[in-house]
Amino acid sequence: MKEFDYIIIGGGCAGLSLAYELEINEKLKDKTLAIIEPRTEYKKDKTWSFWKVSTHNFDDCVKKSWKNFSVNIPKKTNYLECINYPYQSVDSGLFYEKINNKLKENKNISFFKDISEINSKNSFVFNSVPSIKKDYHNLWQHFCGMEIETQNDFFDEEIFNLMDFECDQRESVHFFYTLPYSKTSALVESTWLSKMNDSSQKDYDSQIKDYIENHLNLKNYKITYKEVGAIPLFYPPYEETKNKLNIGTAGGMTRLSTGYTFLNIQEHSKYICQNIENISNAKKFEINKKYQFLDDIFLRVLDKNPEMMPDIFFKMFESSPKTVIKFLSNKSNFFEDLSVILKMPKLTFLRALFY
Ligand SMILES: Cc1cc2nc3c(=O)[nH]c(=O)nc-3n(C[C@H](O)[C@H](O)[C@H](O)COP(=O)(O)OP(=O)(O)OC[C@H]3O[C@@H](n4cnc5c(N)ncnc54)[C@H](O)[C@@H]3O)c2cc1C
Repeated sequence: MKEFDYIIIGGGCAGLSLAYELEINEKLKDKTLAIIEPRTEYKKDKTWSFWKVSTHNFDDCVKKSWKNFSVNIPKKTNYLECINYPYQSVDSGLFYEKINNKLKENKNISFFKDISEINSKNSFVFNSVPSIKKDYHNLWQHFCGMEIETQNDFFDEEIFNLMDFECDQRESVHFFYTLPYSKTSALVESTWLSKMNDSSQKDYDSQIKDYIENHLNLKNYKITYKEVGAIPLFYPPYEETKNKLNIGTAGGMTRLSTGYTFLNIQEHSKYICQNIENISNAKKFEINKKYQFLDDIFLRVLDKNPEMMPDIFFKMFESSPKTVIKFLSNKSNFFEDLSVILKMPKLTFLRALFY
């Protein structure tokens, strides 16, 4: 059976981002790479959005970017600017196409459907497939997004809505998220932060229909695309070995308080590429411990006090948007952390330290 220098298990966001980074930096000229990916066809299955706080290789896959956003709770709306860190939406269809076209050019890169097709004994393995067992204590960010089109102009394409809490909470945390791509098209998403014990929360189709028709007051539209997902708000189990490194969600690249993962994956790929010659001995790349600590407290508060969360998120955005964006994107300094922390209800957060 064929042997390879490197193996990437999972040709999704993290696996392909890493392969692309290695390829464009000419790290695969004299090395071989096998990518293990069971899907038979690549097509758009996700929309990755984030505040652009660092550079990445996929500006040409950005479907739309915004400099304004809003956050709202019943009867209150906060309009905010993100000029320094525009919010971008990457189309996964364009991302897969761009990377696969590039990887095809290098004969040292091969795709397989299953790892049993190759000999992996002497390879260095990058694994992006998490092993998550069902545990009803774990929190998830689960959601469904629908792209819709209208016949007449309806949306304000200059401003997206990050969180609209004016909806049924069902003893969890629930909000809608709207990304207007143009005056006549938008992604409307219903998002829950919960342990997924209440199956009624997964009745996404009727939630979104109700939101569009009765909250946005839009009756005439058609659905053109749908994506469903669940992001673990906990770190999947990670077994450390000398010749294997986890990447992507499996590698702890999700910011647990927000679910944002895409840009962390890009930074991790760059780090691996810079250290590829000595990857077995490179220091583990992880989200700064300060954020791991703060997110742990934040999620404890969320778990015990879901009814407080709309106000907590709303208050958070009363700090300068630049500060909050840096905080939520792992780029804040001590004073910026403090400015966000001081907006939080102190007693509730202090109590959470002892749950
Ligand atoms: C619908 C959706 C929307 C998201 N939106 C955002 C967003 O807006 N912003 C953001 O920052 N993050 C977002 N995320 C979170 C995160 O960025 C994505 O989940 C991202 O795709 C994670 O990359 P990954 O490589 O870890 O996993 P994936 O992209 O899921 O890749 C894993 C790959 O492994 C393959 N695979 C599965 N089983 C095996 C196996 N046994 N052997 C080999 N391969 C296997 C899968 O087919 C898949 O291609 C979203 C997640 C989802 C699900």
